Formats: sequence, C-alpha cells, structure tokens
Amino acid sequence: MLHLCLAVIPSRSRFDALQPRLCQLPSDHDGKHSEFPFLKHLLKSHPAVAKKIVRDSIMTTGAAWKSEEAGPNRILRWVMLLPDETLLEYGINMNNLKPQVVAKLRDKAATYEECIQVAKRLTWTAYQMPGSPEPDAFTKDYLEDHFSTMIPGSTSCLICLEPLPFTLFSGAARGKAAIETGHMNPRHHDATNVGFVHRECNIAQGNKTLQEFYDWIAAILERANKI
Ligand SMILES: [Zn+2]
Ligand SMILES: [Zn+2]
Repeated sequence: MLHLCLAVIPSRSRFDALQPRLCQLPSDHDGKHSEFPFLKHLLKSHPAVAKKIVRDSIMTTGAAWKSEEAGPNRILRWVMLLPDETLLEYGINMNNLKPQVVAKLRDKAATYEECIQVAKRLTWTAYQMPGSPEPDAFTKDYLEDHFSTMIPGSTSCLICLEPLPFTLFSGAARGKAAIETGHMNPRHHDATNVGFVHRECNIAQGNKTLQEFYDWIAAILERANKI
C-alpha cells in the first residue's frame, strides 16, 4: 500500500482551521505538495470532468437551496459534520433552515478522508468507462495501488448497470451532465458506496437505497404484468 505524504497544504478556505487539506502524493515525492495528484492528468485532457469529480466528492449538492432560509448552496461535506453552535460561528444558522433541508444537508456529510477516497474512486472509475482517455503511468499506478487493476471499458451505471460511455460527460462543461455521482445508499458518502450513474437513473432512485429502489421497481412490474 502506497505511503502518502499527508503534509498540510495551506489554502484560503475559512474552514481550514477545522480541517486542513492534505497532500495525497506518495511520501517520497519531489516538488510541490498536491491534494489531487491523481486528477492532474485528467485536468489537462478533460478539465470539466476533473472539476466535477472534485466538486461531487467534497461538496454537498443542492442548487435549489440558495436562499437565506433554504441554506447554503454547495458546502464542504465535512463542515456538515459540525454541531449547530460551531456552524453558527461560521455564519451558517441551521435553526433558520427547514427541517427537511437540515436533514438533507446532514445526510450529505462526510469526513475529509471519506471525500478524498471518493475522489480517488471516481477517478479510477472514470478511466474505466468505454471511450475514456488512457491514464498516464503515474495516475494508473497510483489508482491501481488504491483499488485494483483497471479494466478498460468496464464501468457501468451503478443503478441500471448499462455501460456508461465517457462521452456522456461532455455536457458537464455546460452544466447539463448526463452523468451524475450516485450512491448505493444515498446517506453514505464513501468510496465503497459511490459510482457514476445516468442522471435519469439517479433521479429515479431518489432517496431510496439501491436495494429499496430495485424492490420498488420489481413490485411495480409485478402489478403491471397482472394487468
Ligand atoms: Zn506532499
Ligand atoms: Zn443508468
């Protein structure tokens, strides 16, 4: 297993005092520290995809919540682990939010380590989509050391299990991606539970776990087939 540097990387985020950002390069690396060295290669060839992986890994979602009452639009997932009193010191008043919004935000919470592992996992998965670019030697070794040998073209949608072509990412630049990050259990953001999914599959799954979703579909089909 790769030994990581994990040196603290100074950043301008006001939340750094709570959770420093750490270097993910191997401990014997040369040059500058880097938090997302496994995305450097993808950032050059497909910047929108690389940025989406970072965003989905570390930030909560919820563009519709952007109002005083509805709460913060994207926020760092580990910040959502903090108690209400601490969040208030950072200008986030959870008491002002509707209970269902608070529940949603708290569901999206994850530790810094979980978020970084998710970013690595999603990158590893992206390089195995049909039509994906080939990773350079550093990226391939790094990701395979974290997970397992990549099988080109093997990535399918976590939900419907159909192959997921890399070209579906092309809408990402216009903010209309056909691919989203999905969760087998929507309430756990960790590397064993995430994968890429079709947008329509993600919408259909909603807040159900994958098993609940399949059971729901199976029951519908059973009723439909009786008609
Ligand atoms: Zn370092
Ligand atoms: Zn799908």
